[in-house]
Amino acid sequence: MSIVEKFTNEQKIAYFSMEIGLRDDIPTFSGGLGVLAGDTIKSAADLNLPLVAVTLISRRGYFRQVIDEKGHQTEKPVEWEPSALMTVEPDKVSIEIEGRTVYLQAWIYIVESLRGGSVPVIFLDTDLPENSPEDRELTHYLYGGDKRYRIKQEAILGIGGVRMLRRLGVEIKKYHMNEGHAAFLTLELLHKYKKRIEDVWDESHIWDIDSVKELCVFTTHTPVEAGHDRFPYDLYKTVLNDYFPQTILRKLAGDKDINMTLLGLNLSNYVNGVAKMHGEVSQGMFPGYKINSITNGVHSFTWTSEGFKKIYDKYLPGWANEPELFVRVGAIPDEEIWEAHLKAKRMLIDYVNSISDAGMDYETLTIGFARRATAYKRAALLFSDMERLKKIGTGKIQIIYAGKAHPRDEDGKRLIEQIFSLKKALKGKIRLVFIENYNMEIALKLVSGVDVWLNTPLRPLEASGTSGMKAAHNGVLNFSVLDGWWIEGHIEGYTGWSIGPAPSLIQTENNINKIDADDLYAKLENKIIPTYYNDRKTWIRMMQNAIGKNANYFNTHRMMLRYVTEAYIR
Ligand SMILES: *Cc1c(COP(=O)(O)O)cnc(C)c1O
Repeated sequence: MSIVEKFTNEQKIAYFSMEIGLRDDIPTFSGGLGVLAGDTIKSAADLNLPLVAVTLISRRGYFRQVIDEKGHQTEKPVEWEPSALMTVEPDKVSIEIEGRTVYLQAWIYIVESLRGGSVPVIFLDTDLPENSPEDRELTHYLYGGDKRYRIKQEAILGIGGVRMLRRLGVEIKKYHMNEGHAAFLTLELLHKYKKRIEDVWDESHIWDIDSVKELCVFTTHTPVEAGHDRFPYDLYKTVLNDYFPQTILRKLAGDKDINMTLLGLNLSNYVNGVAKMHGEVSQGMFPGYKINSITNGVHSFTWTSEGFKKIYDKYLPGWANEPELFVRVGAIPDEEIWEAHLKAKRMLIDYVNSISDAGMDYETLTIGFARRATAYKRAALLFSDMERLKKIGTGKIQIIYAGKAHPRDEDGKRLIEQIFSLKKALKGKIRLVFIENYNMEIALKLVSGVDVWLNTPLRPLEASGTSGMKAAHNGVLNFSVLDGWWIEGHIEGYTGWSIGPAPSLIQTENNINKIDADDLYAKLENKIIPTYYNDRKTWIRMMQNAIGKNANYFNTHRMMLRYVTEAYIR
């Protein structure tokens, strides 16, 4: 049986995502969105769901982050060879771009679950001898280039992706757009679902919008305005010419420019945000559309350290495919939980000491912060009052940071430099290290090896966040602003700690930085440090609650079952 036949035997859910993070040696992701897509696919395979995923091959990856001694980030292309991990299909499809025919081929990677399920992932590739040198680069750089490069990539993903599925003979039951990047797929579907001219009033009614809506599911991922792609109609015209009539497109994607989110919204019968609060915020941004919410999760098996896997296997057999079993975490003796944690912590500290001169130790309360370096995540909030931090933390805490800034995010790059410069200011008092080139491997080391996972986004801009869910799977306690998933996961002093007021009680931005920082310092001093050093029993109880109440729920198995019942088989 050919690899393709294996997945043309039943109708599939087609899951489209510009980035997919399955493993570090397939470097086709930049951060949370991609890792979520990878976790989604892994859970689908475990649950034996009929899913096929579509993305771009990103042959140069996102980038490898190199940081000099001043904290200045430079980006190096990642070289990797798809043929080492995937097979290429002989069938090609094409798409007209700037009047040229651009050919696409498909690399297929199969995600196999230990439980027998499998999900094929199609990586689209234009790097073919029959294409011009310029077009060969279109699937090289994830989120690279200018708007022109981006609209071409999105055309390849959406339009090329639908054509490739058809060429491979995969029958599709629903198209799930993971973020607006893939929304051009709706136009390709409209072309397929055209009505007969004799059945309509006039030509503008030829497009069978209702049938396409019935096929499409759209998930929006960010309330940050810049996160919603917009393309000018002039650009659309020079790149895609008359692929789809502008008069109709203006009704579907906005009159001013092409708003990919609006296009997704207008052509999907099911739309959702990625946490309860994010669903509400998105509803406010897009009145007139019904926006549901399905809170994100993480793939439990992927995001659990070796030590915890062992004790879960021993006390909660079957946990990886039935994370609800975490409800029985109380069956695990305290000492074994603590020992599993120490194992992960020693591994992390050894790693940090091997790549830096930080000189960290196993005993000190260790705080971790790692995610994309971008302004709204407020990576420097912990350092907003250095004197207070030193007074509270000297000899009591050590801190580990990591994260990449987008190549053109100058604010994000400055944040990395700022944290680097603080290392010296804290010297001899609080050990601080910034780990280069954050990826999935480092993420697992961090979310399992620190004691406390810090998150300080500016409300309500963190749609969900997922790294805190990974921490919870390893009994690492969240200390986070009440935003995204943490609004749902937080029980004060029980599953972790909040920072600052609930989102509904926020006043102005200036004020809020100060209010949040004050609360952060106060809780660190009066709650977290004393509990860690003087009340180990309570600490371990909280670790159990993080597992039993948070990991239990915030996983992609639960999330996928909700997509199935609410969006896919409705
Ligand atoms: C989980 C993960 C993220 C997402 O982190 P958030 O704190 O949710 O933004 C980003 N990058 C990598 C490598 C991850 O594993």
